[in-house]
Amino acid sequence: MAAMTSTARPLLNRRLAEFGTTIFAEMSALAVSTGSINLGQGFPDTDGPEEVREAAVRALRDGRGNQYPPGPGIPELRTAIAAHQERRYALTFDPDTEVLVTAGATEAIAASLLALLEPGDEVIALEPYYDSYAACIAMAGGTRVPVTLRPHEGRGSATAGHSFRLDLDELRDAVTDRTRLLLINTPHNPTGTVLTRAELTAIAELAVERDLLVVTDEVYEHLVFDEAEHIPLATLPGMRERTVTIGSAGKSFSFTGWKVGWVTAPPPLVSAVRSAKQFLTYVASGPFQYAVAEALALPDAYFTAFRDDMQAKRDLLSAGLAEAGFEVFRTAGTYFITTDIRPLGETDGFAFCRALPERAGVVAIPNAVFYDHREAGAPFVRFAFCKRMETLQAAAERLLKLRQY
Ligand SMILES: *Cc1c(COP(=O)(O)O)cnc(C)c1O
Repeated sequence: MAAMTSTARPLLNRRLAEFGTTIFAEMSALAVSTGSINLGQGFPDTDGPEEVREAAVRALRDGRGNQYPPGPGIPELRTAIAAHQERRYALTFDPDTEVLVTAGATEAIAASLLALLEPGDEVIALEPYYDSYAACIAMAGGTRVPVTLRPHEGRGSATAGHSFRLDLDELRDAVTDRTRLLLINTPHNPTGTVLTRAELTAIAELAVERDLLVVTDEVYEHLVFDEAEHIPLATLPGMRERTVTIGSAGKSFSFTGWKVGWVTAPPPLVSAVRSAKQFLTYVASGPFQYAVAEALALPDAYFTAFRDDMQAKRDLLSAGLAEAGFEVFRTAGTYFITTDIRPLGETDGFAFCRALPERAGVVAIPNAVFYDHREAGAPFVRFAFCKRMETLQAAAERLLKLRQY
């Protein structure tokens, strides 16, 4: 060890130095040591459909997928992904050349960026952004250019209520001659924003005009609430040929531990992403791929019930947070509610989240970790509601301690 540490050079390389530790590990440890209800990390505390679990057991017992599955994913799953995109969105993809199965959406994001970026390329991402985006852009040697979603009091039906919106002029101004790719996420984690057709149309027009590639993370495609509608970017004019669309069985079927994700895109893009993917995991999740193929063919009733259940959870936690004194942004999709802590007399989300377990026995995540412009995210705090109703009820009761009379 002495030899390794005698040099001044840090072990973690320069590209990754700023990503040393994640807030999730710190907050989850705090949840355990204080006996708090953990609304920090976004994973459901109830498993997905029993018949899908049983399909995985059957595959494992029958010896399907216990050895390396085919590199692009098993044909049954690629066919099911293509059929799902066709059934839901009238998007047609060839299962053999336009679909790629990945180790969760996480690998799909990593492989897409590693494959499509040259060092120095700029990537525009919506800030606050999912934490792996920044790390993967860095690993690819790219430069991230955040465009900040800002609080907005909406009046039209699609943007009604207080939500975070994209400033289309700011997006347009962020494009330079070095911009290679737009990294979009809708429904958006952590704000719960679902981009409207008008917003997506403006993004599409910009991508076509400036000849940009688009990677769109649509893992929450089935979790859109009220009258919000998920519109895949690939359905807009001129977009199918330049867009990599990413989905996840973890998020759509509540099996986040299975790590089954996918990419749909035209053949040259899938082929490029596959080139990177084959040297990351090569393949993953063999037996689970068979189960997810069955899950994707579930009737619409499954998807409706899943959404209704999650919407009821959103309603319960939103009401509880409002009653405790937070300003609550309207969540139109995802697992998450973003709040503003300023009505509680607080301004620093980091300090607030570090103190919250002691004060109220609940763990949340400061949105600032999802920002380059940390000050823009300072007063915002994210709560996950993909938990049992009784857990959310208990959290809401605990949070009443914060209320100022
Ligand atoms: C959870 C999540 C992912 C990762 O999905 P996995 O399939 O678990 O790898 C990617 N993007 C967003 C926005 C997420 O919230």
